[in-house]
Amino acid sequence: MKLEDIKAAEARLLLPTYERNPILFVDGAGMYLVDGNGDRYLDLLSGIGVNALGYGHPAVNEAIERQSRKLVHISNLYFHEGQAELALRLTERTGLDRAFFCNSGTEAWEAAMKLARAYSAVKRSEGHAMGTRFLALENSFHGRTMGSVSTTHKDKYREPFQPLVPGVDFVRFNDVAHLRASFSSAVCAILIEPVQGEGGIRPVSQEFFAAARELTQSTGALLIADEIQSGLGRTGKWCAYQHFGIQPDVTTLAKPLAGGLPLGAMLCTEEASRGIHPGLHGTTFGGGPLACAVAIAVIDTIEKEGLLGNIQQTGTYFKHQLHDLAARQESVVDVRGMGLMLAIEMNSAELAKRIVAKMLERRILINRTSETVLRFLPPYIMGKEHVDLAVAALNEILTEDSAGLSSFAAAHQNTGGQGNG
Ligand SMILES: *Cc1c(COP(=O)(O)O)cnc(C)c1O
Repeated sequence: MKLEDIKAAEARLLLPTYERNPILFVDGAGMYLVDGNGDRYLDLLSGIGVNALGYGHPAVNEAIERQSRKLVHISNLYFHEGQAELALRLTERTGLDRAFFCNSGTEAWEAAMKLARAYSAVKRSEGHAMGTRFLALENSFHGRTMGSVSTTHKDKYREPFQPLVPGVDFVRFNDVAHLRASFSSAVCAILIEPVQGEGGIRPVSQEFFAAARELTQSTGALLIADEIQSGLGRTGKWCAYQHFGIQPDVTTLAKPLAGGLPLGAMLCTEEASRGIHPGLHGTTFGGGPLACAVAIAVIDTIEKEGLLGNIQQTGTYFKHQLHDLAARQESVVDVRGMGLMLAIEMNSAELAKRIVAKMLERRILINRTSETVLRFLPPYIMGKEHVDLAVAALNEILTEDSAGLSSFAAAHQNTGGQGNG
């Protein structure tokens, strides 16, 4: 089928949840996607932070081939080889004790929320004064299912689906005084993205994160770090919280975990796991043999190829180049992020939108989040040469754009144009 036919068929047949860019991708290799005409696109988004090893990595392909010849699915009623092996790798790298596997970020988050509620029930049964409330942050994003949406801040994700899961309060981002004022023994968990993703690539402050750790420790409530976007190496460490030297009780992973296959994980301490017993939570597909085999291969490849080091080096270079860009282009008002989780904030949402479209014309994929923020979540294999291509393109587009706008304004002045008020 051709793109136009697919577009027409989807418009008729699919729930209208997405506004897709008009490109049909058919192949990919390394940092590049290939469309139906054979044109190559430099991918700085990697399937929204998923394709950590880029496209067609032999380690991913081999793991899929090898495991698909054995078992793809068996359910969680029986043992297979993958879950314990993957859990060992993840617990070693996150500083946590136990893992639960599922199929997506939002499911990992639901598991974390349920774990916190179940743990608080155990604490109450033991005579502790612990309530059931969650403290989440303003501009948080934790996923699209009901529990996750309830802890997600932006109205546009929440409002149409009310009533949501009760017991959630929002704290102003990085406002330590507001956090302290909002916290009490009624709280069973504080929920933090160490680097907010959809919220605009905003790292939490050291002071705020430390206060959240101290408050939760004072009552036995859980500190839960959502690392679905920032975790598994994205920021140059296995988890972003490791940059802060703060150990949460629970964390969630998903996006890059299985190199493009759906897999989520919720990891927790032995203590936090006390509320869970057989039958209380589960999933049909979660942690299947195929996804686990690929995740093991992804982790081993990140290590074997020294990709955490590459993320730190390329990420530092990329951020530096973005700072240079910001110094040359006054429409760039901020540069944020860690490792290969980076963003520039533009002075207008319209401009940010135009840049994404113009980058696409130049066959470079980036994305806009929180209206004015251009987000970069490239594969971990990105090199300096790709940074240079991307930043040069951004610089040209911004230079053209500001020249275009000033000549537009000049033309309007010359003709006594009405402008737009
Ligand atoms: C993407 C994301 C989620 C949701 O993951 P899905 O796999 O889309 O359900 C949750 N939290 C964060 C921080 C995310 O970036």
